[in-house]
Amino acid sequence: MKFGVLVFPGSNCDHDTYNVIAEIKGTDPKLKDEIVMLGGHLDSWHSATGATDNGAGTIVMMEALRILKALDIHPRRTIRLGLWSGEEEGLLGSQGYVEHHFGSRPPMDDPNMKGMPTLLRRDAGPVTVKPEQAKVSAYFNVDNGSGKIRGVYLQENGAVAPIFEAWMRPFKDLGMTTLSMRNTGGTDHLSFDAVGIPGFQFIQDPMDYDARTHHSNMDLYERVQEADMKQMAVIVASFVYMTANRPDMIPRKPLPPPTPQIRF
Ligand SMILES: [Zn+2]
Repeated sequence: MKFGVLVFPGSNCDHDTYNVIAEIKGTDPKLKDEIVMLGGHLDSWHSATGATDNGAGTIVMMEALRILKALDIHPRRTIRLGLWSGEEEGLLGSQGYVEHHFGSRPPMDDPNMKGMPTLLRRDAGPVTVKPEQAKVSAYFNVDNGSGKIRGVYLQENGAVAPIFEAWMRPFKDLGMTTLSMRNTGGTDHLSFDAVGIPGFQFIQDPMDYDARTHHSNMDLYERVQEADMKQMAVIVASFVYMTANRPDMIPRKPLPPPTPQIRF
């Protein structure tokens, strides 16, 4: 898919940005049309190379997929990776993908709100979903630097707690012990959550992400913690595998209802 994002006057480079999508096809005749998604954003901030935001998340997701491929596990459901463009400009890549495949809210009348993602358009009306929305069990995201995974933000989806609790147990000695009911913001899982697909961001060790590297000129390769990245890739691969092979899909929250329009 193509998305027009930034235009630099006088530049003759490609002004579109692109999502990267990859899949391991499901093998169960009854479940292979259902999908488990994982991803993170591929774009970054201009002052450094973006090693922790979000090179780290991108590498973890690619490594998780490589692990599953190398194990030749033949998942029941299809596993689909999405590396999103234009996240830093407003979740544009994941938003465009979700709108194209899964659903959206109507556009806003207000010209200042033109192009706002579905999650910021709750007063524009109800979400309309496409048939493919019903086929996505869950979406897992990594975008909080290169520190270890410590748990999962449940995004206020309490029904998931006992499931993730059981999946997390084998990783206790790797330091993953926390489920938070909290809704965490700021990145691409929100595009999925906004149209009723369970979308999750992992809780990570903050390291020096907020204090030093995030959107700074210090976001360079030496800030990436190799051992923590390996821990993350193993956990993500396991959660994705368990979601792909579970008899049922991950429980869903009700679709977020529209909010009343405020007119001045
Ligand atoms: Zn980011």
